[in-house]
Amino acid sequence: MDFKPLSSWFGTTATPFLIAGPCGAESFEQLDETVSRLKASVAPQLVRAGVWKPRTRPDSFEGKGEEALMWLRDIRQRYQLPITVEVANPKHVELALQYGVDVLWIGARTTVNPFSVQEIANALTGVKVPVMVKNPVHADLQLWIGAIERLHRAGISQMAAIHRGFHRYGFSSYRNDPMWSLPIELRTQLPTLPIICDPSHIAGKRSLVAEIAQKGLDLGFDGLMIESHYRPDEALSDAAQQLLPEDLAALLSNLVIRSNKGVYDSANALVELRQAIDDIDLDILRALSKRQEIIEKIAYHKANKQMTIFQLERWQEILRTRGQWADKLGISRTHVEKLCQLLHEESIRLQNLSMNDQADVQDGRRTNA
Ligand code: PEP
Ligand code: MN
Repeated sequence: MDFKPLSSWFGTTATPFLIAGPCGAESFEQLDETVSRLKASVAPQLVRAGVWKPRTRPDSFEGKGEEALMWLRDIRQRYQLPITVEVANPKHVELALQYGVDVLWIGARTTVNPFSVQEIANALTGVKVPVMVKNPVHADLQLWIGAIERLHRAGISQMAAIHRGFHRYGFSSYRNDPMWSLPIELRTQLPTLPIICDPSHIAGKRSLVAEIAQKGLDLGFDGLMIESHYRPDEALSDAAQQLLPEDLAALLSNLVIRSNKGVYDSANALVELRQAIDDIDLDILRALSKRQEIIEKIAYHKANKQMTIFQLERWQEILRTRGQWADKLGISRTHVEKLCQLLHEESIRLQNLSMNDQADVQDGRRTNA
């Protein structure tokens, strides 16, 4: 699959290509005030605003639909800036095109559904409009590529992928886990496809947007999509992550822009490889945290059955099986044995703590309060 560069969209070669605007179009006043300040402070290449908002729970702000498209048509005219909105079905496509929207984007909750993506692709057959495809909610690279392929087959060659992170159950400091190795793999498989980083939806909070934007640029992404609102705290959706236009300007001026333009030099490769290691280490720590939860349950059972913490047979079995697994996976047996020792020591320490805690409670030395 071959794609046209971002410069073919509106003739701009700005680096990074900047898409800015509120999460949702809420009122004409909100759009007018936000876009006029964005134009003055950051001059984005494209203004974003959701007019149909896919919300997790009903009764949340679901967008103003066609009315918002009318506001956006006026804003586009007034500020001479192109507009992008999210579309999730053929009716949205028809209305967006009717109101002169310049670029369409497909949201994470739509990319997961091949039926919806195909319907959108069919509605776009023969239409010349750039389309951006956000990654699916979960970390499935093939599904992301599949959606891009469906649109490409419908004749869309001005495309971009938007990396907005992946949902992950359990603890994360981010709203959506970036899992950088996925967009890197996307770049490897589709080298001409522009990739835009959406740090707002990865971060989920204002304070983390800058560092994620920088990482996206360090990895050689072509653009940024960042949410901005003239009154972020009063936003009807994604209030915690939206930035004032002037704060966005400060953030952008602090970013280090490295020249990379499609060249994979060794410095770039190192950043990518380190990122992959960071992802793996985080996975290992997550696994350790799950291991800890199970150890606490084991301690509870052992205490109930009056069993000792250390069970020689189990320990021998652990060493034997892990050694065999190490051989199969091609990693050093000694390294794995040392690791098992460490894990075992920690397990014993935790079981000790937990059993003594339970004993204290039973003896009335402590209460569960
Ligand atoms: C959005 O861009 O406001 C949005 C709904 O994003 P996503 O599809 O990434 O959740
Ligand atoms: Mn949003």
